Formats: sequence, structure tokens, C-alpha cells
Amino acid sequence: MDDLHALRNFSEELPTRHEVSPLLFVGHGNPMNAIEENEFSRGWQAMAEELPSPAAVLCVSAHWMTEGSQVTGTERPQTVHDFYGFPDELFAVEYPAPGHPGLAKETQHLVRTTAVTLDSSWGFDHGCWSVLKAMYPRADVPVVQLSLDMTKPAAWHYALGQELTRLRSKGVLIIGSGDIVHNLRLLDWANPDGAFDWAQEMNEKFKDAIIKNDHQTLIDYRSYGRGAALAVPTPDHYLPLLYILALKRPAEEIRFFNDRVIMGSLSMTSLRIG
Ligand code: ZN
Repeated sequence: MDDLHALRNFSEELPTRHEVSPLLFVGHGNPMNAIEENEFSRGWQAMAEELPSPAAVLCVSAHWMTEGSQVTGTERPQTVHDFYGFPDELFAVEYPAPGHPGLAKETQHLVRTTAVTLDSSWGFDHGCWSVLKAMYPRADVPVVQLSLDMTKPAAWHYALGQELTRLRSKGVLIIGSGDIVHNLRLLDWANPDGAFDWAQEMNEKFKDAIIKNDHQTLIDYRSYGRGAALAVPTPDHYLPLLYILALKRPAEEIRFFNDRVIMGSLSMTSLRIG
């Protein structure tokens, strides 16, 4: 496909498909997962192999925190290396997937909750590309990122997620990328495979509510008390999950994968819906 052809396609609205796209939430964990072949990157890769081929990806990443909502609107989004203290090899990674200005505009029009701005300064952050590099290594699926407006409460994010429903009928794979349990301050570097009791317990409680479609409890996650304060000390890595749950149809199946708590206080738990 030459560039001209690509630009023409990706600036238009996506056609409707017969099947509804599945949904994914991925625990992305350590940025090093982008260059390490490990159980988690293999889990992402295996998931991509069984998913229907998407027309495009819309990614809600924990690492694009904004005031107001934004979508990446450019044809060639840059790879953002939004971390410090990692090896040069990780900074050298480029994920050259094209953007999809047509999908960005469609997303902008679908959302009624707020005015979504088309952004040209961001790109793909590691919450997005570290996972997509394993899933679609050829970088041939166009990708759009949607930011997290950090001035808004959990229920607002859930409501915004619901407004994206129509994209599922257009072959768009919507991915939330975060970590359900994510407490960096308490990370136990000496115990890479271990889990604190509270982290394991909260991972199970969140999973239980997900299985029961108890979305209200997941929106009101602070009602879990001390466990939630430890597991979700800041909402950024948790909120992408709410977008995915908001899009779930009641009877759709849920399947967990990469379901493990590591380094004490970080869950890699991921799920496919539909
Ligand atoms: Zn992260």
C-alpha cells in the first residue's frame, strides 16, 4: 500500500462490519515488556493471533493524562518515550503504525459528554506501543489514542466509554491499557514474582465484580476502602478498565489472561470481552 492510498483510506469514516469487535483491557506493567519476550508479551501476541483482524485500534492509555479530552488526529503519530532510567534499547523503539484521522474525527463526533479536541502533539505512549508492538509487530494496523481527562470522576469516564459503542461495529478494536492494581510506591523489586496479600485480594475482588457485571461497584471502587486506596492510589491506571466495561454488552463472555500480580503491587491481569 503506497502512502497516498493509505492517507486516502485513513482520512475517511470506517465502513460498518457484520461482526462486533471484541474489547480488550491489558495490564501493561513495566515498559521493558516492550523489548522482552516474556509470558506477558507472549500473552498479548497470542491474543492478537486469535482476535479478528481489526480495521483500526482505539487505545485509551493510562499514560496520556490531560485536562479536557483529546484524540490523536495525525496521519503519522510519533512514538513517545514517556519514561526515565531505562536502557537505550527501549528509547530506540519506534512503533511506526499510521494514525487514522478519519477514526479520530468519528470519535470526536460520537462523544457527546464532552468536546474532544484533535491533537497533533502527542502520539503513541508506551501504554499503547509496548503492547501493540507485541500484538501487531508489523505496525500495519492504524492506531488512534484517546486521552484521559484527569479532572473528571470515574463515572464520567464510564459514560464517555459508552458513547464509543458504534466503533465496535466498524471493526475498531478498543483497548484500555493500564494496570488494575498499580502501586509503584510499594513495588517490591526484590520479589519480581510475588504478590502482597492485599494486592492479590484486590485483584480477585475486582475480577469478581467484572465477572458479575457489577459495574457500579467498579465505578465506586473507593467503597472497597483501604484495599482500593492501596491498589488504586491514583486513578490513571484503573480508569482505562472502565472504558472497556462501559462497552460490554450484558451477555458477552469475559476471558482473563496474563492474570498475575507481580512485584508485590502490580497486576498484569488482562481481559478480553466478546
Ligand atoms: Zn503504566
